[in-house]
Amino acid sequence: MNKFQQRIQQIEENIQTSCDKVGRNRSDVHVVAVTKGVSSTRAKEVFNAGFKHLGENRPDGLRNKLEQIKEEINWHFIGNLQSRRVRDIVNNVSHLHSLSRMSIVKEIQKRAEDVVDCFVQVNVSGEEAKSGVTPEELEGFIESIQGYDKVRIVGLMTMAPHIDDQEEIRSVFKEMRTLRDRIESLNFPHAPCTELSMGMSNDYKIAIEEGATYVRIGTALVGEESEGD
Ligand SMILES: *Cc1c(COP(=O)(O)O)cnc(C)c1O
Repeated sequence: MNKFQQRIQQIEENIQTSCDKVGRNRSDVHVVAVTKGVSSTRAKEVFNAGFKHLGENRPDGLRNKLEQIKEEINWHFIGNLQSRRVRDIVNNVSHLHSLSRMSIVKEIQKRAEDVVDCFVQVNVSGEEAKSGVTPEELEGFIESIQGYDKVRIVGLMTMAPHIDDQEEIRSVFKEMRTLRDRIESLNFPHAPCTELSMGMSNDYKIAIEEGATYVRIGTALVGEESEGD
């Protein structure tokens, strides 16, 4: 096994262990392999290894990969997006993970050919550098999206703070689950909100224990190109 195969096997074991710990089905957890830091060649390897959901965080990075890779990939756009770039990505992605502004909703409505599955990004920890709506703003934001029929809110997304304190990270994920459950219970037709996109290389195990249905794993899975494996 090369390093890449070893990493995949390790992650798969970890996901299974986390699922077992809390009695979840492995099939309820989707891995988005984040390829933003690696070449199209590596991204193709990742796809061929069985990962059908790949993530990019910049319009140019996505366009680059789309030009180089012809396989049927479900692309997830996970980065901040400016309104003027919506048109560049909206008809090429299966999911948008970073919705948090009305200007983006309006632009999607204008540019999308089909309904776009979106996650509303929530800034639970209140870090100023992070984008996302606050927990207090969340319900109002989702309510105000009613009527924009190109936007479907499939779930909520967050990035946990970069800290070592595992229990604090866990509490962020727990709060996300509570928020998701509340929005789901409102039964908005445009916002089924059944999904939770949370967990990255450093914290996906905790995220899965707390209910993540999409984990976005970059470096731990795809590696860093300079490794030469
Ligand atoms: C880069 C990125 C990831 C993956 O990060 P890793 O730490 O490499 O796993 C996940 N989500 C978002 C929004 C990102 O920008």
